[in-house]
Order: sequence, then structure tokens, then C-alpha cells
Amino acid sequence: MYPGSIEEVVDIVQWCRREGRKLRVVGSGHSFTAIAASNDVLMSLDHLQGIVRVDQEARTATVWAGTKLKRLGEALFSHGLSQENLGDIDVQSIAGAISTGTHGTGLTFGNISTQVIGMTVVTGQGEVLECTPQSHPEWFKAMQISLGVLGVIVQVTLRLEAAYKLEYESRRLPITDCLTQLTQLAGENRHFEFFWFPYAEPCQIKLMNITEREVSTRKLQDYFNEVVMENAFFGLLSEMCRLLPRTSAAISRLSASQVPVGRKVSHSHRLFATKRLVRFHEMEYSLPSEAMAEVIKEMQAALSKQRFHVHFPVECRYAKGDDIWLSPAYGRDSAYIAVHMYKGMPYEAYFRAMEEIFLHYGGRPHWGKMHTLQAPQFENRYPMWSAFQNVREELDPDQLFMNEYLSRIFKPHS
Ligand SMILES: Cc1cc2nc3c(=O)[nH]c(=O)nc-3n(C[C@H](O)[C@H](O)[C@H](O)COP(=O)(O)OP(=O)(O)OC[C@H]3O[C@@H](n4cnc5c(N)ncnc54)[C@H](O)[C@@H]3O)c2cc1C
Repeated sequence: MYPGSIEEVVDIVQWCRREGRKLRVVGSGHSFTAIAASNDVLMSLDHLQGIVRVDQEARTATVWAGTKLKRLGEALFSHGLSQENLGDIDVQSIAGAISTGTHGTGLTFGNISTQVIGMTVVTGQGEVLECTPQSHPEWFKAMQISLGVLGVIVQVTLRLEAAYKLEYESRRLPITDCLTQLTQLAGENRHFEFFWFPYAEPCQIKLMNITEREVSTRKLQDYFNEVVMENAFFGLLSEMCRLLPRTSAAISRLSASQVPVGRKVSHSHRLFATKRLVRFHEMEYSLPSEAMAEVIKEMQAALSKQRFHVHFPVECRYAKGDDIWLSPAYGRDSAYIAVHMYKGMPYEAYFRAMEEIFLHYGGRPHWGKMHTLQAPQFENRYPMWSAFQNVREELDPDQLFMNEYLSRIFKPHS
């Protein structure tokens, strides 16, 4: 169903309630699990996109919850505004991104949900709720990352920055040097992440910092190099790994040796996003930030021992701790480590081995990515878990928003 107004969202929720139906809302369907799946009613807010209003003085904007991040970035930019940080693709909807705690990288920035300062939500009882930290402090902390189980978010108010430019730099560095320089790299750059290629010595580091320099002009050539060459070349290598898994380690080393080195400048919202055309499975965990190097070393040791056939690089990022109840970064500055496997290659044993390491270090899984945890394990990892369940009972007493995947995560109301 594609509602075109808040009233239509209310009508659908009330109809589902009357008829005893289950309802899920899907954003762009870019989560790696069945979190948004429905075998009953599925709602999309694709017809509710764009900016509702902008407050230039306060540097805030209220936007329709179905707005895709790419469209949002351009629309905000036309008002001289930008989000302070973003993840590495821009096809998600803003509601989908905040509902799973989508994040970028940078020790001084929380995930995208921390940019939210207000929401309009249609609850499981079909009531329209204006939810801000002032009006409903507890509900707001639950709503900021809600996995779509507290209601249909229809509008989101974001705190923003004046539009800014970033200079992006990609470098190759031996992984051992990268691990010894983490504090400096993460502390001295606005955005820092690195890609560790399994079985390879060089890794890729990516840095982004604010600049006043002119936007780079080699747009067509950059597009060709990054989108066509990198994706096509990597896609070809990935197919080879699928057909001949034993080549994975060598191909990982080859990819590492081809890491592009260079710089470019652009407006922030255009620089955060990259094109990801090669399909993969992904698992990502948040860990205490200080554990990054130790965890990578344990992963290296596990790979040397078990020789998993994997050539996809491991993506390593940082985020500032926050106070959002279901945020993987709740109460601690976080290292985010993501493992990937090319679609069509077996990932289970590799992901399970890496997950064991993550769990040992107090890891919490990304809500939009793969993991094997179930309800009891979340209770131990989230101090505010039961407070969230109380809000769920208040806002969705009939469990309208449950699906099969979520019933693995949440116990039924008592
Ligand atoms: C190639 C790729 C790259 C990615 N890169 C990153 C990254 O850099 N950083 C990162 O953190 N994550 C990343 N992700 C994960 C992605 O950001 C999340 O899975 C995000 O939730 C996807 O947004 P979506 O709009 O597709 O939401 P969906 O997957 O459609 O839904 C996610 C959740 O949001 C809920 N939801 C959606 N709309 C609403 C609404 N209006 N009201 C209430 N609930 C709603 C759904 O019910 C569901 O629970 C990536 C994923 C892919 C496939």
C-alpha cells in the first residue's frame, strides 16, 4: 500500500487493527535481513517524500519519512543545508535509515538517528503522535531507533549543518601500521575508516575533512574509474572467487594492491555515498572503540587458522556513543566492523566465527544486517531493553507491527 497523506496512513493502521491484520513498513528494502518483510500487509512511504518545512535560523528541516537519502541530500543542499554525517550509500529512506541506526564514520558523530530532533508517528492504535525529547522524553529515546515496531514514522525533523565541502583522500597503508596509528587517524580526521583485505598486507584508509577548496572537476573520469572500473573489475574477481574459491586469498591480495590512491573535493552529501554494484551478504557489529585493533588481530588469527574463502574487504568505522535505547552505540564510543561475502559464496561459517569474536568483546549487531542473536542475548547487551519493551506495549499493544524475523528478537508481550 502506498499512502499519500498522514490521514491515509491512519486509515490503513486502523483498518489493519479492526481486521486483525499484521502491518510492516518498508523503506528501500536495503536491510540484509527480513526485518521489513511481511506476509500480510506491506506499506511503503514512497509517495511521501520531500521537504515539509525548513527553519533556516535553527538549521532544522522537517521531511517526509519516505524521502530517499539521495533526494534528501540534494533538497537540503538547495536550502544551503546538509547532514553532518552519512553512511556509504544514499538509496535508503530516511525512516529506514534511522529505524536501524544507520551510521557513517567519525568519532565525533553519532549515527543518523542522533540527528533526529522530532518525529510524527502513527502508533499501533492509529493515533498521530508528535514526539520530541521535550514532549515525550522516554518515547522519543525508544522511537529514535525502533526497528519499525512502535509505529509508522511519517515525518522526521533533523538538526543540520550549513552546507559544507569535504576533501576525500584514499591511501594504502600496511595493516600493521594502520592498527598502531588508529588513535591518531581517528582523532585527527573528521571522518576516518579503513578496509582491511583478508590475507593481504596493504589496507585502504579513507579520510574526509572539511575544505574550502574548489570541487574537483574530473567528474566523468572519476565516475568511470570508480563506478565502472572498480565495480566491474571487482565483480569479475568476485565471480572468479565464486567459481574457484581457493583463489580468494590471492584475489584479496590483488585487490589490496590495486587500492586507488588520490584525493577529490565535493559537497559533503555527494562524497559520502559510493555506488555498490557487486552484490554481497553482510554482518556488522558495534564494539567499544578501544577494542578495534585487538579485534582485528583476533580476526586475522582466526583467518590464518581456518582459511575461510573470503576476498571481500572488512570495513572498519567509528561512531560516537549515544543515549538511544536500542542504539548499538548506546553508552560507548564505538568501533563498527563489517564482514562481507560475495553473493553465491557460503558465508555462514565465516560470519559465525567472526561473530563469536565480536560477542566476546561485548558486540552489538547492526539492526539492518545479519546476526544470529535471539531475544535473551539482547537483554544482556542493552541496558534499556526492558524499558523499550514497555514502550512497545504502550504504543503497539496488539503487536500489529510484528513479523517472523522480529519475533526472534522480541518476546511476545506478557
Ligand atoms: C549496499 C548497502 C550499503 C549499506 N551501507 C550502510 C552504511 O554505510 N551504514 C549503515 O549503518 N548501514 C548501511 N547499510 C544498511 C542500511 O542502511 C539499513 O539496513 C537501512 O535500514 C536500510 O534503509 P531502508 O530504507 O532500505 O529500510 P528497510 O530495509 O526497508 O527497513 C529497515 C527498517 O526500517 C523500518 N521502517 C522503514 N520505514 C519506516 C517508517 N516510515 N516507519 C517506521 N519504520 C520504518 C522497517 O520496518 C524496518 O524495520 C547498507 C545496506 C546496503 C544494502
